[in-house]
Amino acid sequence: MEISSDLLIGKQSVHGTNGAIKGVDAATGEPLAPAFGGATLAQLEDACALAWAASDVYRELPLETRARFLETIAQNILDIGDVLIERCVAESGLPRGRIEGERGRTVGQLRMFAAVVREGDFLGVRIDPAQPQRQPLPRVDLRLRYVPLGPVAVFGASNFPLAFSVAGGDTASAFAAGCPVIAKAHSAHPGTSALVGAAVQKAVADCGLPEGTFSLLFDSGRDIGQGLVSDRRIKAVGFTGSRGGGTALMKLAAARREPIPVYAEMSSINPVLLFPNALKNRGAAIGKAFASSLALGAGQFCTNPGLVLAVDGPDLDAFIQATSAALADIPAATMLTPGIHRAYVSALGKTAEHSDVKTLARGGEAKGATQGQAALFSTTAAAFRANAELQEEIFGAASLIVRCPDLATLFDLIEELEGQLTAALHIDEADYADAAKILPALERRTGRILVNGFGTGVEVGHAMVHGGPFPSTADGRSTSVGSLAIDRFLRPVSYQDMPDALLPDALKTENPLGLNRRIDGKLQLSK
Ligand code: NAP
Repeated sequence: MEISSDLLIGKQSVHGTNGAIKGVDAATGEPLAPAFGGATLAQLEDACALAWAASDVYRELPLETRARFLETIAQNILDIGDVLIERCVAESGLPRGRIEGERGRTVGQLRMFAAVVREGDFLGVRIDPAQPQRQPLPRVDLRLRYVPLGPVAVFGASNFPLAFSVAGGDTASAFAAGCPVIAKAHSAHPGTSALVGAAVQKAVADCGLPEGTFSLLFDSGRDIGQGLVSDRRIKAVGFTGSRGGGTALMKLAAARREPIPVYAEMSSINPVLLFPNALKNRGAAIGKAFASSLALGAGQFCTNPGLVLAVDGPDLDAFIQATSAALADIPAATMLTPGIHRAYVSALGKTAEHSDVKTLARGGEAKGATQGQAALFSTTAAAFRANAELQEEIFGAASLIVRCPDLATLFDLIEELEGQLTAALHIDEADYADAAKILPALERRTGRILVNGFGTGVEVGHAMVHGGPFPSTADGRSTSVGSLAIDRFLRPVSYQDMPDALLPDALKTENPLGLNRRIDGKLQLSK
């Protein structure tokens, strides 16, 4: 399958004439053909107009059609075959096994959202039937359902070129909610974006949907991405990337005449808390597992364990020794882009030179120009408190161990941390009482609290929260992974005393869609 260098605007493939974007082989730095044309403002206008025109039509199509659309995208992605895997490996530098796994996750997510759509619970139907005889005043008939927000702009992630990009979690959940999507291709993987975009565009045609249900734009600068967020027809934004990029888009969205939600996933250092008994009994084993988690995917995970908090002493020294030994055996790995590699090397340099930081260990040496070498640092609790920059995310396989004088100080540090996606507790039974004390603070700070593991594996399911207070995300009330992600793109509407003939099917008295409903506050199951 040939990779088209065109923008996808509705059903059209159009060449962008506003500069060019070239993919780069992450391992060699060599440019990859073809050059993708950047969209012009007129082409952005076309995509937004089509998305707006599609919005009311797409959202009222039968749920079965919407579910089949999601499944068709999944199948079309699989049908691309090896071309997609090879291109994605070249552009990301990630190993083939990882990319194949990511394709499976992408397809699985789309199918999971198809099941969510068919089941229909996301419509959240509530009915408070009229009570004409109620005293002193009759009660009106009130019916509620959730409706989609409207067209969504999606900015994919550099580190998940399939599962969090053009047809990734944000796009799948927006489509499931009933929203058209305009995807802004990530410059780190334009060829992957073009291939997946074509699969989505074909699914739109296969399912007979309005053409504006999906468009894909390349941006040679910032105008198209920012123009998308500012366009009055865009009603929400999904974003995964840097804190700088995410907050820039949040500001733009807030400054609009009609501000819109930006669901940005940005920066998190994912504290690992080593409790005294676990550290004493299993320190070396935890250290080995920690080293693997830290270096996985060259550390380019939003859930990478970038911070370790523990009470200072010989048990912590044993953990450090085991971690250092394990890290030394882990080869350096190609990073996603030369820019991300440069940022990593620069952050490592600054941390290593910091007067309050000690370098403890390094991973295997970098062999290629864009390989990242793992690194382990330490500091004291007092220095960590005094230097805000030590709390900043280093995107890559780097972690900072904070030596705390006692558990009380460790707990105080948690209270002072910024919002996080995850926190991992390493505990034995004798630590449970202490662990229980810190849980409320962790609930305030993080989206996912895990025990005796690391946050790098993110299960896609119904009970997953991949989100957390700022700056881990823009809005800690939501998740970007798992079926609950659909809620980000919905809002409730009430219908008062509306005749059955005018009500949407989801709210009709006969319940033609067979939905579970909350009648007078009580859940009534349809089956
Ligand atoms: P990024 O530079 O923020 O880019 C993300 C996307 O947003 C890209 O499509 C980019 O366009 C666009 N963008 C960035 N700033 C923009 C602005 N001011 N206006 C309009 N569009 C803008 O992030 P990245 O390159 O993907 O990753 C680099 C950093 O992101 C890492 O160092 C890491 O800190 C963070 N990261 C975090 C997570 C997480 O889940 N927490 C995941 C991945 C990355 P272009 O493609 O044209 O640049």
